Amino acid sequence: MGIRLLLIILAVGAVYIMVRRYLVRARKTSVNRQKNVAENMVRCEVCGTFLPEREALERGSLFYCSREHLDQASHDKS
Ligand SMILES: [Zn+2]
Repeated sequence: MGIRLLLIILAVGAVYIMVRRYLVRARKTSVNRQKNVAENMVRCEVCGTFLPEREALERGSLFYCSREHLDQASHDKS
């Protein structure tokens, strides 16, 4: 009798922990998704293509979509 009650308490506790873990993970996932949507978009100085800041090549305060355009911009200046 006492062992059965103990088993029920353990089972309820395990379910409670699993549900809590699931809820925490679901909340973290939705926060990450919001961060991606709010990501900064920058414009390539050469061709005007918009791309995410983390994929762009940065030099000074200017951004470029590719190595090619970064080199092209430096050739134009000199
Ligand atoms: Zn470009």
